[in-house]
Amino acid sequence: MRINPEITALTAEYWDGLLNQRLLLQKCATCTAIWHPPEPVCPMCQSADVEWVEASGFGTLYSYTWVHHATHEVFRDDVPYLVVLVDLLEGPRLVSTIHGQTVGALPIGAQVRAVYPGAGDRDEGLVTFEFIENADANQETKAP
Ligand code: ZN
Repeated sequence: MRINPEITALTAEYWDGLLNQRLLLQKCATCTAIWHPPEPVCPMCQSADVEWVEASGFGTLYSYTWVHHATHEVFRDDVPYLVVLVDLLEGPRLVSTIHGQTVGALPIGAQVRAVYPGAGDRDEGLVTFEFIENADANQETKAP
């Protein structure tokens, strides 16, 4: 059993982007605000002139928690699992995870980048993150 997101007309562009390893965010053509999750109008100025832009995939670890008690039976075999908040370079904060970590402290403020472990699979196509080991060197060559 899995819990898959409900794909609506409002969110289809976002989910289709993840299938193709692209993290898409909405941007207001009127005031240039960028946000997530998708909204029908700009949350800053209420303009309906909204476009999709591709995020860089880079961000910083804002916070995290280790979940030790499954909140739903589908997560029972996954505990403890990691839930992270990532502040994207473009501004929005995403809820996600970082695979391959062991329970313990993580470096708040560390630089991360998006990875798409299930790209191409509608049932697995979520964005997750990984730490950038040599952030300064990687930022010089890979960041926009
Ligand atoms: Zn706006």
